[in-house]
This record gives sequence, structure tokens and C-alpha cells, in this order.
Amino acid sequence: MEVAIMGAGISGLCCAITLERNGITPTIFESKTTVGDRFVNAEAIFSIFNRPNKDSLSYLAENFHINLNPTAEVDKLFIHSKNEVSSIDGKIGYTNIRGRHENSFESQLEKQVKSKIIFSSTYEYEKLCKDFECVVLATGDGAYASHLGNFRSDLTCTIKGATVQGDFVTNNPHVWFNYEIIPKGYAWLIPYSEKEANLVIGYPDYPDNIKLDLNDMWDKFYNLACAKLDQHLKITDNFEITRYMMGICGKPKIDNTYFVGNCFGSMTPGLGFGQYASILTGVFSGLDICKEGNYEELTKPLVENYNHSLALRRFLENLTDDQIDFAVKNLDKQIMSKVANKIFSKNSSIDLLKLSTPFMKLWSK
Ligand SMILES: Cc1cc2nc3c(=O)[nH]c(=O)nc-3n(C[C@H](O)[C@H](O)[C@H](O)COP(=O)(O)OP(=O)(O)OC[C@H]3O[C@@H](n4cnc5c(N)ncnc54)[C@H](O)[C@@H]3O)c2cc1C
Repeated sequence: MEVAIMGAGISGLCCAITLERNGITPTIFESKTTVGDRFVNAEAIFSIFNRPNKDSLSYLAENFHINLNPTAEVDKLFIHSKNEVSSIDGKIGYTNIRGRHENSFESQLEKQVKSKIIFSSTYEYEKLCKDFECVVLATGDGAYASHLGNFRSDLTCTIKGATVQGDFVTNNPHVWFNYEIIPKGYAWLIPYSEKEANLVIGYPDYPDNIKLDLNDMWDKFYNLACAKLDQHLKITDNFEITRYMMGICGKPKIDNTYFVGNCFGSMTPGLGFGQYASILTGVFSGLDICKEGNYEELTKPLVENYNHSLALRRFLENLTDDQIDFAVKNLDKQIMSKVANKIFSKNSSIDLLKLSTPFMKLWSK
């Protein structure tokens, strides 16, 4: 079978690995000059968002032969609100590198792929449909799916980030919810190493937010982060993304076109985690092409998870700084902290997101 994969990102490469394991050699078309040819950033995978599966990376390796080495295993996540700080402790997930870096997830996956990758590709989707029996759309956004009338966009967001130098504990990322500075959004710091980290703010592009000055918001947050971490963070690189689309396709497969990764709707709107679902959609599309699974059926839990995450987004947007302060303060109480650590742990299969969706929907109303 002649299969074209459009996009050599994490979903496209995972599809290729799955096809190759089943005796199909796809052709991969990548518009950039190398795999991961974009800014370097640090990302995270937290087990709690990928339930009922427990340890996300072990699950991918054991079940689908997708082997990925993280930068670090998170053993403490600091949560900052406007006036409080607390933490969730224990093995709750991983951090990893993306983009133009030898250890990025896409670089690691490329080493596991034997199929030909055609770089600097200008092939259009329509042409691939004519030349191949099957096309896997893995271009990292919902543009093609939207163009085909197969994508519901729920929100777009603005992201601004930087690589900073300082002193960090590699296993300890930080997250900030401070609506006075970043309305309805949040910020995070994920270390790449003990000396380098990624500092990022992200917020939804609602009318009130669009009026705000992004640089001013960044400056305020950057100063806050330096103060909270009690050090000067030296900026060595930066990036900005506007109108980053979050939505989900209507049908994961139309005729012989598969929508995978962000083309499928892997990017969950709650807090913007998309790597795990991107990898799974890549694998599942490969299994369907090899007649080892049904893509629509396999992706149903991911659609459900997307919808729970949308409830989380609406819930978060309806909170006030005082309410977030209250929650963060209580997280520090012994009993709450024990419960949270247990639920977030990679050994738990409790699907908190699913269980709390009815409550979050009620609250948001
Ligand atoms: C700043 C930021 C931070 C994030 N943080 C996290 C996080 O902490 N945790 C998490 O789980 N998720 C995070 N995400 C989301 C996650 O990165 C994405 O969901 C995931 O990378 C999507 O994978 P993909 O395979 O769909 O796309 P990508 O991995 O982006 O790959 C798409 C590929 O397609 C190529 N391409 C595009 N157009 C064409 C074309 N016309 N022809 C050929 N090739 C093309 C691109 O060059 C690229 O190589 C973050 C996203 C951003 C932007």
C-alpha cells in the first residue's frame, strides 16, 4: 500500500514507526529542512491527563514500541497562585525537549524511522491524494481539517516564551495561575537542565485579552517569576505564537485521509497538552491502515478526553484569583496534599478529569 504522511512531527513519525512494524514503508513529506526545524522548547506530559493509563511513557513503549527518553521525571510540581504557592509531590509525569535539539522527541523518533523523509516538500494535500492510496495529515494544526469542513475550533491562544538561564532543579517545573497578570491563562517554567529552562505565558484570545499588550504582560510575568524564584533569569532566546488553534475534527478519517496529531484535535484546551494524544493518533492511524485496528473506534476515548478538557478550560476561566488562592492554599494542608499526590501519581488510574467534568460544567453555568 502506498501511504503518504504529510508532516514529520511527533504524530507523523509515530504513524511511520507503526506502519514499518507492520510491513508498510510510507513516504514522509516535511515542509521544513529537517525534523523539528523550529524553536526549541520544553514540554511536559502529566499522567493525570492521560487516564485510565498510568505511566504515559511506559504505556507507549510497552504497548506500541514508541520509545522516548524524557529530560526528567517530575517529582515535584510547584503551583503558584496570586498570593500562595504549593506543590504536588511524587512521580507525576515527565518533561521533554521539542524542536531543533538533538534530544528532542522528534529527533528521537526520527532515529527510529527507516522510511524516506522528503524535506522542503511543497506537495499539496490534493496532489498527495491523487498519487497515494492513503494520506495521513500530520501538519500540526487544524488548517487542512478546517479547509475540508472537518474541524470545530473552540479557541485560539497566544503564547510567548523564552529560554532562560539560571539555577533550576530539573525535576521541578513550576506553573502560575495569576489572572491579574495573565487573564484566563497561565504560565510555566520547565527546566531543560540545571542551568537552562523554558519560561512561557499562554492565554486565550478572547476579546478582552486581545486588547491587552502582550509585551507588557510578559514583562510583568517575567519580573514576577524572577522575584518568586529569587534570581535573575537571563533570556537567551524567545518565541511568540499567535492564534494557536485548539479544536477537534468532526471525523478522524474521511475516505483515505487520516487526521492525526493537532490535525485530529490532540491539543487539549484545558491546559494545552497535546503530545500524548498526538503520539496515539499517529499510532492508531498506522494500525488502521494495516488493518490492525479501527481508527474511529480507537480515537473515541481521545475525543471524550478532549471534551472533558474543554470543561476544564471553561471551569478555569470562571475562577477568580481569590478562589485559586484558596485552592492552592488548601493543597498545602496535609490531608489534601496526600490525596492530590496520590491522584496525580503515575501509579494511579483515577480519571479525575472525567470524574470532575459534571461538577466543572455545573460550576461554569
Ligand atoms: C509553546 C507550546 C508548548 C506546548 N507545551 C506542551 C506540553 O507541555 N505538553 C504537551 O503535551 N503538549 C504541549 N504542546 C502541544 C504539542 O506540542 C502538540 O500538540 C504536538 O506537538 C502536536 O504534534 P503534531 O504531530 O500534530 O505536530 P508537530 O509535531 O508540530 O509536527 C507537524 C509537522 O508538520 C510539518 N508541516 C506543516 N505543514 C506541512 C506541510 N504543508 N507539508 C509537510 N509538512 C508540514 C511541520 O513542519 C512539522 O514538522 C505545546 C505546544 C506549544 C506550541
